[in-house]
Amino acid sequence: MIRVLTGATLIDGTGAVPVPDAAVVVDGDRVAAAGARGALSWPDDAEVIDVRGRTIIPGLIDAHDHMAAHGYGLATRLGLDEPASTAHLRTARVLADTLAMGYTTVRDGGGLDTGFKAAIEQGLIPGPRLVLGIQIVSPTGGIGDRVSPSGHTCCAVYDPLLPNSVANGADGVRDVVRTMVRAGADVIKTATTGGASSRPGHGPLDPAFSLEEMRALVTESHALGRRVMCHALGGPGLDVALVAGVDSIEHGCYLDENPEHLRRMAGEGIFFVPTLLVYVYHRESASPHVRARAHDLQKHHVASIQRALELGVPIAAGTDAGGHGHPKNAGELRRLVDAGLTPMQALRAGTQWAARCLALEREVGTLEKGRLADLVVVHGNPLDDIEVLLDPARIELVLKGGAVAVDRRAQAAR
Ligand SMILES: [Zn+2]
Repeated sequence: MIRVLTGATLIDGTGAVPVPDAAVVVDGDRVAAAGARGALSWPDDAEVIDVRGRTIIPGLIDAHDHMAAHGYGLATRLGLDEPASTAHLRTARVLADTLAMGYTTVRDGGGLDTGFKAAIEQGLIPGPRLVLGIQIVSPTGGIGDRVSPSGHTCCAVYDPLLPNSVANGADGVRDVVRTMVRAGADVIKTATTGGASSRPGHGPLDPAFSLEEMRALVTESHALGRRVMCHALGGPGLDVALVAGVDSIEHGCYLDENPEHLRRMAGEGIFFVPTLLVYVYHRESASPHVRARAHDLQKHHVASIQRALELGVPIAAGTDAGGHGHPKNAGELRRLVDAGLTPMQALRAGTQWAARCLALEREVGTLEKGRLADLVVVHGNPLDDIEVLLDPARIELVLKGGAVAVDRRAQAAR
């Protein structure tokens, strides 16, 4: 079936100047053509959807999320406060709500098993296309090693599709990478430093994994056709990640501290996924050590982004949502604008550039002939005000693979 959206302003994700009075021709699940309406044609029996006065953008992409994480409280993190079935249904709701905000692709950095992806692909529940990390690979004491402050490991949710991700030594690391791939990992998520919300003693500048271990991890991941997304905030662990050759630095808050780091990323095309949104949340944390870390890194984080822009480091938008940001993931785009990106750059960080980060740029991220027809019809223009993407009422129509995922046009004031 051919479906044509006509009359809107088209922002195709490539960085091209927006096209007023455009048309997007969708044939089945793909874009057949996109551009000025007068230059395109379509069969008489095509379904024509008039979206005059609106803006069409590519489906949004979150390059770093945790869809199955629902809070930072200890009982929630350890899976103690509700039945696993309730938590899974909560996750299904988050998947649906996130898609309904125009997010048609999400890379999950750990916690979501392949059952959710299968359920979406089978049409059991609505949700974005998923790129799964399964679990965070780290050494003992790293962020993938979930131990309560009392020292107990009693309570992790038992899910054989979320296997143990703690590994030590090159052989141990290779074993865990293979285990993640067996469990359905599309990408290997690892961590070479602590983070803002990590336990006291394992903070943003504290390392995890030796260079030998990280080299084994990257080599094995690449041999199995998986990219490596690496949580690394600063200090020697950030250095190890870059020298080992990871594909993206997640968070990267202290990249400004060593000028070589961003130069290397620019030269090698290593992506920077800053995840500003999660630190907005952590700055208000009830835990003093988390709050202090989030405040300390803030000016470094912004300086890192500005230097990355100067050097041409590829930036992808990721929220690290999970217990704080769902489903207003576009808050990250607003934060990127605050940090110095133009609205067009922020939009590309959440579309084309994120698609490249996920190695999906031939499928999604732009509205060009041959791409999957993932698109959002927005009431308002995000280049004038990026915050329109945070308002559900303005996300009027979402197509995923040419199919209508969400249609709020009946409710919308036209
Ligand atoms: Zn993460």
